[in-house]
Amino acid sequence: MTGTEIAFSQHPHDRIGHRRTDESWVAEMWADPGTRVLVLAGTRVQLHDGKVAWVSPHEAPDGIKVLLGERDGVVHFAVIASGSIAGDDWTGLRGLVSVIDEDQAPFLVHAFGIAEWIWATRHCIRCGGLYEPMLLGHVLRCTDCGREEFPRTDPAVIMVVTDGEYPDDRCLLGRHPAWPPGRYSTLAGFVEPGESIEQAVRREVHEESGIHVGEVSYFGSQPWPLPRSLMIGCLAKATSTEVDVDGEEIEDARWFTREQMRAEAEEGTLVLPGGISISRSLIEHWYGEALPGQW
Ligand SMILES: [Zn+2]
Repeated sequence: MTGTEIAFSQHPHDRIGHRRTDESWVAEMWADPGTRVLVLAGTRVQLHDGKVAWVSPHEAPDGIKVLLGERDGVVHFAVIASGSIAGDDWTGLRGLVSVIDEDQAPFLVHAFGIAEWIWATRHCIRCGGLYEPMLLGHVLRCTDCGREEFPRTDPAVIMVVTDGEYPDDRCLLGRHPAWPPGRYSTLAGFVEPGESIEQAVRREVHEESGIHVGEVSYFGSQPWPLPRSLMIGCLAKATSTEVDVDGEEIEDARWFTREQMRAEAEEGTLVLPGGISISRSLIEHWYGEALPGQW
């Protein structure tokens, strides 16, 4: 497996950013019944038979129009409408993770990322004025002072830490105190201001598990707009082996051999993260093939 096989990063759409200012083109596409529109009520979408519902432009409610982009000749928009239009069958991105269609995922993470940002960014950070959306949802401009605010993405590192040389190398996984018994995953944390990715990996691993890391290499990344993270997947080589967990973010961390991981995953005493997560991709990259069971 390579970084390019990470779920959510497959089949990206063309964001056609130059069309965000092309009003006549937008009007033409909006008049085309073949254009697909994802309706968000605040930060929730409607499900039909377990699938995310897309509609034609004439079926979309009033709201903030967001140009997502084009794929296979079809233009896709989102409309962010008032949260009040949502019924019981509407759900946020977290509720979609298990049903999400990989083909749709790039559109969904784009739309949810914009919707979460607009929802959370009401007032100008300079003068307190109200923001209004511009460029089809991709800029907010203050109606008082004109300050422009761009969407933010928070970088977070997520890493599989290994010790030793293949095939006898071991992999370090940790568990959060609130998780059900048996659940383990890769360590992760946010990049702090002024910190490189490599420094963030070494700091987070040491803070959470007491393990020292030397070499860090890039694996791949996954957008995770809950609400606005970009998960930067890394491979980290340990230079020490003694685990000393912080007890707060991580209550236990363990080294697994491949044999232990397979045996415990088959028994169900070890439960690994779901197939769509980059943590799963990282663990299976180390392991060398698919493993049974998931959250
Ligand atoms: Zn302002």
